[in-house]
Amino acid sequence: MWIERQDTQAGSEAATERVGSARGGRQAGTPGKPALCVSIHDVAPATWDDCMRLAQALREVAELPLTWLVVPQYHRPGGEPARMEAGLERALVQGDELALHGFTHLDTAPRGPGLSERFWRGRYSHEGEFAALPADEAARRIQGGLDWFAERGWPVHGFVPPAWLMGEGAWQALRAFDFDYTTTFLRFHVLGAGAGAGAGTPGNGGTVWSPSLVYAARNRTGRLASPLLADALALALARRPLIRLSLHPPDVRHPRLLRHAQATVERLLATHTAMTKAAFAHLFATHHYQYGPQYPPRQWRAPQPP
Ligand SMILES: [Zn+2]
Repeated sequence: MWIERQDTQAGSEAATERVGSARGGRQAGTPGKPALCVSIHDVAPATWDDCMRLAQALREVAELPLTWLVVPQYHRPGGEPARMEAGLERALVQGDELALHGFTHLDTAPRGPGLSERFWRGRYSHEGEFAALPADEAARRIQGGLDWFAERGWPVHGFVPPAWLMGEGAWQALRAFDFDYTTTFLRFHVLGAGAGAGAGTPGNGGTVWSPSLVYAARNRTGRLASPLLADALALALARRPLIRLSLHPPDVRHPRLLRHAQATVERLLATHTAMTKAAFAHLFATHHYQYGPQYPPRQWRAPQPP
């Protein structure tokens, strides 16, 4: 277990354990402060080298825990699965978290006639696998992803839909599984018992408003505008419980974006505690996270070799 904390709440031994390595609960930064969750999206053999470089770039400025969003059967072929799996094993040992990020990442469901649906699903280049799936198919894919994690003996606590898009069928399917959290672009949703009544329903007490800082690396305007937007969001969210920074493999090809991500993390760690998404979900569930954790600071211990 990487984290030890004094806990003033009765009956929380199990909770303390949950914040440990099994929860991907390593933390860095300023204890007792709001949370910073940094994630790497679209982790697959084909993107592995880029994902590794993103992680290395972040760790040049801080030894912080990451959440790797893994796609079990990514629709883009290539890469070496064994190398990725060895890398993710190392990440787990370090106290990082692996989360389920769809199954193929590809949105193959037929397009509906609605303008808004066409806009959102088209905007993400058909990457929103769970945007329009019926509940049974969504459940089948989630179970497929969980089986894939289980075959590798990897714990999984979170589901993040590709492109953050999740239709009603996917929401319905998700509620039948035992995830601790899911995220959309605007919100962090705590699921299960920790969320209180109506878990997973946008707008209830189990959600935290936290639009993700994210870069639009694919076009020039996006590359220029998205760091400015990220700065504005970081400022707007400064006194809220959670700031999320989400990096995608294409970001790695743009040094300016990487430098921005590094500077952002470095700056935020002065005021925030970096933690995995699973650790945040757990804190939210057990401590009714409002404006920073309501418990004594904890100590961070360097990971021991396995
Ligand atoms: Zn993705």
